[in-house]
Amino acid sequence: MEKIVLALGGNALGNSPEEQKEAVKHTAKSIVDLVEAGKKIIISHGNGPQVGMINLAFDAAGKTEAKTPAMPFPECGAMSQGYIGYHLQNAIENELKARGHKKMVATIVSQVLVDPEDPAFENPTKPIGSFYSKEEADQMASQGLVFKEDAGRGYRRVVASPKPVDIVEKDAIKLLYDKDCIVVAGGGGGIPVIEKDGGLTGVAAVIDKDFTSAKLAELVDADALIILTAVEKIAINFGKENEEWLDQISVEDAYKYIDEGHFAPGSMLPKVQAAISFAKTKEGREALITSLEKAAEALDGKTGTTIKM
Ligand code: ADP
Ligand code: MG
Repeated sequence: MEKIVLALGGNALGNSPEEQKEAVKHTAKSIVDLVEAGKKIIISHGNGPQVGMINLAFDAAGKTEAKTPAMPFPECGAMSQGYIGYHLQNAIENELKARGHKKMVATIVSQVLVDPEDPAFENPTKPIGSFYSKEEADQMASQGLVFKEDAGRGYRRVVASPKPVDIVEKDAIKLLYDKDCIVVAGGGGGIPVIEKDGGLTGVAAVIDKDFTSAKLAELVDADALIILTAVEKIAINFGKENEEWLDQISVEDAYKYIDEGHFAPGSMLPKVQAAISFAKTKEGREALITSLEKAAEALDGKTGTTIKM
């Protein structure tokens, strides 16, 4: 049976809890199509809007009379994994049941090890949370947080985006996966943790979900990593007159296109980089970038962009 890791992009989840509940019904249909096609599936997903909402809500609640305690960023990430996992489990279970299948579906709250020496920590770039005035930002900066001016709109806290080194719960994930459970793991790129004083401790950072998905695919020895996003294929000269959609490219071609600047940083670039990092780990492994709707067709080789050695 083909083992695949599905990385769900923002459009698979929507932007609010209500929107998400509807969106996952549609997402579940594509996933169960793959189950029916005989695929063994692990699902990872983004959490940008979700963790943003949780973080903002606690920020706002802290300013009320209730003086709700501050919620650290790793805890916000854990909350987002929990409720996205709940929605995915619920929708996939319902879809399986409607089609007469019986299968386990479970979410693993996932911690992802990062290196405190990762160069990303020297230059935090990911904005999180509310906008502040310069005075407020300076005050919080004196407690060790980092702030950056955001396009004239005020000051926002920024955190680093380090690369994933290992997935702490990988053995538990594999155990469930080997028992034919559909596993949701590595949500939002995982909760970043570092080794400290003989244990692991959470840090305020954002790991790109595409990189964590590639790491997950490598660790469970998947045959394919499928990055699902808003486009059916990737393009060179994207959005230009000479735009060209790609069907199959080698790792070497992919590096060349990156150097030529064809993929936007923060959107398509990390996906292509993640695809490369998985495809180059072993002969025969392939990474696919396509849309949710086209996932089954892409796996049959009919569409999507495939990257392999
Ligand atoms: P996700 O939520 O799935 O991570 P993103 O918006 O971060 O989605 O990234 C996908 C988007 O990247 C596409 O919808 C497309 O607009 C954009 N993109 C940038 N460069 C390219 C390219 N070269 N080929 C295709 N899409 C591209
Ligand atoms: Mg993205």
